[in-house]
Amino acid sequence: MDHVIGLKCTICGAEYGVDEISYVCPKHGDDGTVDVLYDYDVIKSRISRESLAQNYDYTMWRYKPLIAVEPDSPVPPLRVGWTPLYPAPRLAQKLGLQHLWVKDDGVNPTASFKDRASSVAVVKAREVGAEIITTASTGNAAAALAGLSASIGLPAVIFVPKSAPPAKIAQHLIYGARVMLVDGTYDDAFELTLKAAKEFGWYNRNTAYNPYMTEGKKTAVYEICEQLGWDAPDRIFVPVGDGCIIGSVHKGLKDLLAMGWIDHMPKIMGVQAAGSAPLVEAWKNGVAGWEMKPVAAHSVADSIVAGLPRDRNKALAAVRETDGAYLAVSDEEILAAIPVIARNTGVFSEPAAAAAYAGLVKAVDEGIVSPEERIVVMLTGSGLKDIASAMKTVPEPPIIAPNLDAVKQVLEQA
Ligand SMILES: *Cc1c(COP(=O)(O)O)cnc(C)c1O
Ligand SMILES: [Zn+2]
Repeated sequence: MDHVIGLKCTICGAEYGVDEISYVCPKHGDDGTVDVLYDYDVIKSRISRESLAQNYDYTMWRYKPLIAVEPDSPVPPLRVGWTPLYPAPRLAQKLGLQHLWVKDDGVNPTASFKDRASSVAVVKAREVGAEIITTASTGNAAAALAGLSASIGLPAVIFVPKSAPPAKIAQHLIYGARVMLVDGTYDDAFELTLKAAKEFGWYNRNTAYNPYMTEGKKTAVYEICEQLGWDAPDRIFVPVGDGCIIGSVHKGLKDLLAMGWIDHMPKIMGVQAAGSAPLVEAWKNGVAGWEMKPVAAHSVADSIVAGLPRDRNKALAAVRETDGAYLAVSDEEILAAIPVIARNTGVFSEPAAAAAYAGLVKAVDEGIVSPEERIVVMLTGSGLKDIASAMKTVPEPPIIAPNLDAVKQVLEQA
């Protein structure tokens, strides 16, 4: 990995070689999340916007020289990334905007953004010769890990709160992962996974704790910029739980600026559920990530429920350093967004993903966004992940006798 300089602590700035530490800064224990540092001159000798234009690998691995894996490491066969960036003119019109796109990461193999991180996780696990990989998850990270692990035959052990939506648990089980439903919160599952991985010597994919998850997730923003002809958007709306995705958006954009592939830094907008909004509070009050204390968290948007966001340092930097903002949206606003997005773009989102759009609606209402800005909303997971929540937003359809009179009767009622 001669394109990787090392790992830098997000709290104290101490730097380590990639072989010196596996996960976190030893001075700060499990909270000492680290950032991967690159040698962009080396990377520039291997990849360019021109070489990408000739590259027909339409997956996240088209950017492999920008990811902290060994150049000759095999990558998993499942096709992750290069997800569609759809123009959304009807949504834009509803909001009085001129340029709006949605990035549909629900089309990934296990139907969420988490496939990008898990794809890197299984590569790293193989690089270190791990026999078992593990993760804590609200559901999607584990589904992604279960699927990616199955694709290369690597055993996975996963810890999810027992309240996870059934579709996600079905994914874990069907892919053959060893599933442990924790009688507690995601935060409890996270702590337990840290202990179990240390005790049993498993490779740990835990979000934020494992520095390479950011490096997989950042490929989404590379795609957005490439799909826009390297003309970066002005603002990107990101749903935020642990803060790994939003940190990765920032990291990817910093990479692209360092490479000279884009000419400005978009403003990064973090959207949290009102019942799980510790980053909104920290941002408003000027609190540093390492000063944050756990809060009790709850929301219909299960994928963004995190009482102590594990990537809080990177998540706050993403918004603070780009002149963005954090916004909180209610569960009602989140649920209401699901059919609006679906009916105006054709993309069916799970609640956490719909939260990003609800955040855009709020930002427009509050006058934060101006009409001519070029805006991207990240839709991070498929609506099929959580049917029960989606069904709360629509009326029961009529049940009719199989004859034309019954059809006429229903049509007249409407
Ligand atoms: C995990 C997840 C998020 C939030 O990502 P974080 O890195 O935890 O902030 C958003 N949407 C979906 C669908 C997710 O699965
Ligand atoms: Zn440190």
